[in-house]
Amino acid sequence: MVRLRFAPSPTGHLHIGGARTALFNFLYAKKFGGDFILRIENTDQARNVESATEKFLEGFKWLGLDWDEGPDVGGAYGPYIQMDRLSIYQNYIERLVREGKAYYCYCTKEEEDLERERLKALGKVYHYSGKCRYLDEKTQKQYEKEGRSYTIRFRVPDDQDVLFTDLVRGDMKFNTNDIGDFIIVKSNGVPVYNFAVTVDDALMQITHVIRGEEHLSNTPCQILLYEALGWKTPEFGHLPLILNPNGKKLSKRDESIIQFIEQYKDLGYLPEALVNYLALLGWSPSGELSEEEIFSLDELIQHFSIDRVSKAGAIFDVEKLAWINGQYIKKADLDRIVDMAIPYLQKEGYIGENFDREWLTHLVSLFQSGMSAVSEITQLAKQFFVDDVSYDEEANQILAGESVSVVLSAFQAKVNTLEEYTPDNIKALLKKVQKETGYKGKQLFMPVRVAATGQNHGPDLNKTLYLLGKEKVLERINQIIS
Ligand code: GLU
Repeated sequence: MVRLRFAPSPTGHLHIGGARTALFNFLYAKKFGGDFILRIENTDQARNVESATEKFLEGFKWLGLDWDEGPDVGGAYGPYIQMDRLSIYQNYIERLVREGKAYYCYCTKEEEDLERERLKALGKVYHYSGKCRYLDEKTQKQYEKEGRSYTIRFRVPDDQDVLFTDLVRGDMKFNTNDIGDFIIVKSNGVPVYNFAVTVDDALMQITHVIRGEEHLSNTPCQILLYEALGWKTPEFGHLPLILNPNGKKLSKRDESIIQFIEQYKDLGYLPEALVNYLALLGWSPSGELSEEEIFSLDELIQHFSIDRVSKAGAIFDVEKLAWINGQYIKKADLDRIVDMAIPYLQKEGYIGENFDREWLTHLVSLFQSGMSAVSEITQLAKQFFVDDVSYDEEANQILAGESVSVVLSAFQAKVNTLEEYTPDNIKALLKKVQKETGYKGKQLFMPVRVAATGQNHGPDLNKTLYLLGKEKVLERINQIIS
């Protein structure tokens, strides 16, 4: 059975890149009926951000990527938070040291920094000099006596090729001479990422590791650790970078796109739309589905294939995401969209705690197919809430048209004769205005729409006039013709 994991470091909010990695692992696991595991990698304490773990869990729950094992749900391979696993790591550290595959290193950070600078000046890449690699027992005892602090380094075998076939990138080859003995335990006794991740993936019986391209250079280090510990390596797959709309590598500070899942939630994106879009960031379906863009999570599970993940960077297409979200909003249950719209309208002061839900539902339904995010409702439906309409230059131009006063006067005169102010009756009324004035099409509808809403386009006019209410409509028309 396949077992895949997503292993975020709780360094802040859930990022689109992390969410995409999680999704691809999830899809792979579910496609093959396997397990999806969530593990929190928090051994780099300096980078940990308080409450980030809860935020991550919330983000994943919202996206609908349920995990089979994880910090909150438990599982047979726990604990699922690395800092709770220190005693587990200890066993393997001791084993590597005992077997001579790892050693204590007393070099200080300052010494290392100096060496790094020296090599940099020579145009060389830094790796550890190997100074403590073969420390004699006497010196080591001496250092211990002095109470020097130490790290533990992995003894990287000399001149050995590390080969693996990446699920996305194909055959990969690294040489150990380019790696250098790397630290596996910091001087505070806590293991570093490369070590902890290897122990965890092995003990949690992870079969496939799918992660971002930035981890590619860690993979040979991890493979060497698997070999040293006598463990079978999992399959590795490295996902392409996410690029900003200009095709440049995305940095967390890049403001050309919205980068955090929570922000999309706040803007009124639907999680299933975001998941759909994230799946297309680097993956594309094959064959007859190659033109298709809308996939439910179940369909993604069905069609996902790691062979269809591209090596090339994936450009984040803001418009495509908005379009996909619009498609999902259009198809969503109206009540759900109403529920989502309410807080935006309340925040804007357009509605209070008590409001007419039926009226609001009609209103939201008018705009449901024209939104790309639910937060847009405050802009789209503004005219239904504000007292005064503002007419821009374009609106004023339309209102200066020859048919305007004739049409609006006829409309005004007839509205009061209506028995009931309903969309159907408004429709019939507009027909009568057409007959009486001889104006039709744009010359008939535009003056009414613009006078009532200030906008020259919008949803169904009869419903718009109905939901605005007779009073508002008459007041606005009056203002134009008086
Ligand atoms: N904790 C690592 C990160 O957040 C995970 C890397 C991995 O999947 O191995 O980038």
